[in-house]
Parts: sequence; C-alpha cells; structure tokens
Amino acid sequence: MYDVVISGAGPAGSHCAKVLAEAGYNVALIEKNTAWRKPCGGLVSSRVLKLYPEMKKLKTLKIVGAKLYSSDYIRLVYTRTDDKYSTIVDRLDFDDLIRNVAIDAGAKLFDRNLSFDFVSKAGVLSGVKTKTKEGGKEYLGKIVILADGMSSRLAIRSGLRSKWTVEDIGRTKAAILEGEHNLGETYGHLFFQHYMGYAWLFPMGERRFNIGCGTFGDANSKFNLNEIFNDFLQEPKIKELVPESNYKIIWSAAYPVPANGVLINSLYANNLMLIGDTAGFVSPITGEGIYQSIFSAQASAEVAIEALEREDYSAAMLKKYRRHPKVKQIVGNFKTKLRLRKFFYEEQGKNLSEMFARAEKDHAYRDEALNMFFSKD
Ligand SMILES: Cc1cc2nc3c(=O)[nH]c(=O)nc-3n(C[C@H](O)[C@H](O)[C@H](O)COP(=O)(O)OP(=O)(O)OC[C@H]3O[C@@H](n4cnc5c(N)ncnc54)[C@H](O)[C@@H]3O)c2cc1C
Repeated sequence: MYDVVISGAGPAGSHCAKVLAEAGYNVALIEKNTAWRKPCGGLVSSRVLKLYPEMKKLKTLKIVGAKLYSSDYIRLVYTRTDDKYSTIVDRLDFDDLIRNVAIDAGAKLFDRNLSFDFVSKAGVLSGVKTKTKEGGKEYLGKIVILADGMSSRLAIRSGLRSKWTVEDIGRTKAAILEGEHNLGETYGHLFFQHYMGYAWLFPMGERRFNIGCGTFGDANSKFNLNEIFNDFLQEPKIKELVPESNYKIIWSAAYPVPANGVLINSLYANNLMLIGDTAGFVSPITGEGIYQSIFSAQASAEVAIEALEREDYSAAMLKKYRRHPKVKQIVGNFKTKLRLRKFFYEEQGKNLSEMFARAEKDHAYRDEALNMFFSKD
C-alpha cells in the first residue's frame, strides 16, 4: 500500500514523486520503459534549471534567447537581459536525471510496468493494474496520479476525458542530427509556417542539433509530416543554417502533443489527479510543455500532501489542484495563447509577418510582441 501511485515517470511524474517523497510519503512511480526517449525538441526553460541544479551535470549549452521567423523569414530576436538561460537536453539524459532525483528522495520506481487499468475496492479507486514480463501486478494507493503522457489509457478509463480527436492535437516529428551547422550555440530557432504549423532548429553542441516540425488544426490532415520535415531541410534559408545533405541521424520519431491547452474539466476526481501532457499542459503556440508539466506536478503534489494530512481524498478536496495559483496561471496563459495562435496564422501567416516587420522598427512594440511568445520567469 502506497500513499500515492503515479503512472508515468516522465518529467511530470518524476517531479511529483520527488516532492511527495521529500515530504515523507510512500510513492510508487510506475513506468512502462525508462529506455524510451520521449520525442521532443528538448528545450528546457530556466525555471526548470532553477528547480534542478543537478542539471549542470548534463553539461548542456546555455541558450540565452530565441530567433523567431515568420513564414517569409522576417526575424524577431529575443535575447535575455538577465543572467538566466534555457538549455537543450537529450530527453534520455534529462528524464533519467529527474527520475533519479525522485528515487534519491525515496520514491520507488517500477520500470517495465505498463499501467492499463485501475484497481477499485468497494467502488473506490484504490490503485493501478500493470502488465509486466512476469505477469500482472497491482499497486495500491490512497491517491493515483496520472502522468503517463498523451497516450494515457487510464485517463480515458477514468472517464475524465475522452480520446483525443485530430483537432485536439498537434502532430510533430523531432530528430537529433549530427554534422555541420551554423546555428551558433546560444539561440533556439523557431520557424512559423504559412499554414498552422512550425519548425525548429535547436543547437545541442558544435556538431549536433535537434530539428523538428509540427502542425495543428486543419493542417493536421492537409500535410504529411515527413514531407514537411524533408522540405524544411531543403529550404534555401534553412540550408544556410544546416548546409549538409546527409546528416547522421542519432534519433528520430514522430509523436502527438495536446494542442488546445489544459483540459480544466478533466483534472481530478475522487482519489485521482491528471498532470502534465495527460491533462494538456502544453503551450498551444510553441508546443513547450516540460516546464508546464513540471509545475502542474508541483501543484498536484502540494494538494496530495494536504489531502494525505487530512486523510481526505475526495474530489471536493482534490479540486484544490485546479484552483492552485500555478495551474490557474498556466490555464490563463494558454487561453491567451490560443487566441493569439488563431490571429498569427490568419491569412497564411500574414499577421505574424506584419507583426515581426513592425517589431523590427518599433522597440516598444517589439517587447509587446515578444511577450506573446514568452512568459516571464
Ligand atoms: C516532437 C515534440 C517536441 C517537443 N518539444 C518540446 C520542447 O522543446 N520543450 C518543451 O518544453 N516541450 C516540448 N514538447 C512537449 C514535452 O515533450 C511534453 O510536454 C513533456 O514531455 C510532458 O511531460 P510528461 O511527463 O507530462 O509526459 P511524458 O514526457 O510523455 O512522459 C510520460 C511518461 O509516461 C510513460 N508511460 C506512458 N504510458 C504509460 C503506461 N501505460 N504505463 C506506464 N508508463 C507509461 C512514458 O514512457 C513516459 O515516460 C515536445 C513534444 C513533442 C511531441
């Protein structure tokens, strides 16, 4: 019997496990496969670096800003004026690091366990059933937290949300490539398209970078992801940044992201909370979700601690998660971003081009425009 059973040991699940274990609670952290590299651009915000000073061990680059491009390559450059920085990680290393911090704090990791159903006792949700090589297992807990990402079967089984529709998601593909690049080592590059989509180039070192692309909304069914990816690499302006014709592919994969913000009506039920990608904590403009997932995990862990102290695991108690200031802040920010996304992509991306062109000349406007993409730490 655990205090909390967490399904999924990605950034959200592992962070949640760490906070709970540090508070002295018994946590079972269930993961289907720790050797899985989550498809991702790997851009990690300074807010996460602050929470995890251990990340210095990864010796990743210091990213001090972003270069944003409209579909006709008008550029808006953001450079931090404080001493904070973001970084680009390989998700295998990053997820391992966060998971190990949780284990060091006392959480128990159960790898190669695929959660597929809930345990219910007398009608009360009381744990998670998993499949392992050795057969089925059950992990019992007072609270269950779902952090098993986009593909969470349990989220659907809980009845809190239904399956994603094609309009609910972004379709994305990412790769880590090795070879010559002219990206520099201090900026991430983000390219908005004339359709509902974007691409990115993130430097990871002198000869390594993460590249990817994605679509949203109606573009999901109009465009083929692999074609977009290959065409992007062939664009003359992109060739200036990544000139080689045959990069060594270190890794490549496609995966969906939640595209329409947090599912505020699907965050909790009796004995249950949903966090991270499972609950839609991903920016509708940039697809950034690591920071938001970790902060949703922090909020859920704080509420779980209070629930455990009061021995009250009811929905009425867990509602505090939805009302947590950090969750409310992210929800509000995403709502604004959704409206902005609609505006940016209107008329084949013309609005964004005009915005970036005006920002080049007008510095006050430039700051306003940048605020639409980046939220303050
Ligand atoms: C192509 C792409 C690029 C992205 N780029 C960025 C970026 O540059 N920066 C950024 O901030 N965000 C980015 N994101 C979003 C980011 O990857 C997610 O928001 C973040 O990983 C969410 O963390 P999580 O812990 O909620 O979910 P996940 O990282 O998906 O972790 C879920 C965990 O649960 C496990 N799991 C799944 N099913 C089960 C099961 N049935 N039983 C047990 N375990 C299970 C998985 O193996 C995994 O370890 C990107 C996403 C994609 C798809």
